[in-house]
Amino acid sequence: MNLAPPSAPVAPLGHPASAACGTVAPKLALESRAVVRPIEAGSNASCAFCGERLKFSSRAKARKVIANVYVAGRWDRVEQFHDRCYQEAGAPYGAPH
Ligand SMILES: [Zn+2]
Repeated sequence: MNLAPPSAPVAPLGHPASAACGTVAPKLALESRAVVRPIEAGSNASCAFCGERLKFSSRAKARKVIANVYVAGRWDRVEQFHDRCYQEAGAPYGAPH
């Protein structure tokens, strides 16, 4: 008895393009993106979300999210956030990596 092979898995619809699928297409129009970086000593940048200073802390290994913000395909500005604030803000520039 020979059953038909199970159908191939169907790609889920409505899957966000920013999902961790590992395929990045650098040739696409430049988009805002975010990276996580340690906060350097002497940094005096402020968090774009809460407005507080991004304070260096060697003990807590403080991290910040730096977002390169592109407007209409062109680099516009850099915004920095506490990594927690960035999550609270709903990761406005995509998941940091
Ligand atoms: Zn903050």
